[in-house]
Amino acid sequence: MDNCLFCKILKNEIPAKKIYEDDVVFGFVDIYPQAKTHLLFIHKSHTANINEMANDPKAIGEVFQAIQKYTRSESMEQEGFRVVTNLGPLAGQTVFHTHFHVLAGEKLGRFGS
Ligand code: AMP
Ligand code: ZN
Repeated sequence: MDNCLFCKILKNEIPAKKIYEDDVVFGFVDIYPQAKTHLLFIHKSHTANINEMANDPKAIGEVFQAIQKYTRSESMEQEGFRVVTNLGPLAGQTVFHTHFHVLAGEKLGRFGS
């Protein structure tokens, strides 16, 4: 997608702090962290949100396997972490390339506001 911020990151047109990459998944640090650790995991194939991505369950599995691999390699399971994805205006989605926030490193608040 030409006008997609995260596709531009994938094409190296915009810099990002990479923390994970395999053939199909990319992980990087969120530029405006909402927790001590705030990472984003995206699939390299563009979809706009999780409901669109649900048409490609293999891709969802690949992202979650990447999160599993990364969080295990960083020993994050013991302390814990949260995975969040937003869809649409009420949830505050601002980038329309499906992404999974991984929040960790401190006690997280409960859901909603
Ligand atoms: P959402 O609001 O769920 O769509 O999440 C989009 C996230 O992308 C926000 O947490 C932003 O801080 C983050 N973000 C926006 N631009 C960049 C960027 N250039 N590099 C890294 N993270 C970004
Ligand atoms: Zn995209």
